Amino acid sequence: MGDLRNCRRCGKLFVYMGNPLCRQCIDQDEELFIKVREYIEKNPKCTTMEVANALDITVEKILQFLREGKLELGKENTNMLLDCERCGRPISTGRYCSECAAEMEKGFRGSVPPPTGRQSREKDRMYTAHRRKKY
Ligand SMILES: [Zn+2]
Ligand SMILES: [Zn+2]
Repeated sequence: MGDLRNCRRCGKLFVYMGNPLCRQCIDQDEELFIKVREYIEKNPKCTTMEVANALDITVEKILQFLREGKLELGKENTNMLLDCERCGRPISTGRYCSECAAEMEKGFRGSVPPPTGRQSREKDRMYTAHRRKKY
């Protein structure tokens, strides 16, 4: 038996099984995904904007399908290409081009640098300030 959680999209309570969305929202996504895929198959030269308008959904939704690697573009879908989030090279699915993916995998196997930066330091400061106030 899984934990009860609130669906990340509709907020409804559901039994968590590894997906942050409830069954209904997953089904909704699946339906949308099929529509998007069919539209792209019929209109290989369309842009993400055209698909969004035609199906009355947001461009983000389509990009989400692409980033998740769920939706894959064919060679003819040149108007819908994504940018690699690391180097900006056009890719057809996922978030990174194959080169960046390979490089990052190499990096992960090596030593991971400790988290630095303003954000984490600020959090520490807030924590100590909070403690000081308490005592
Ligand atoms: Zn839901
Ligand atoms: Zn890249």
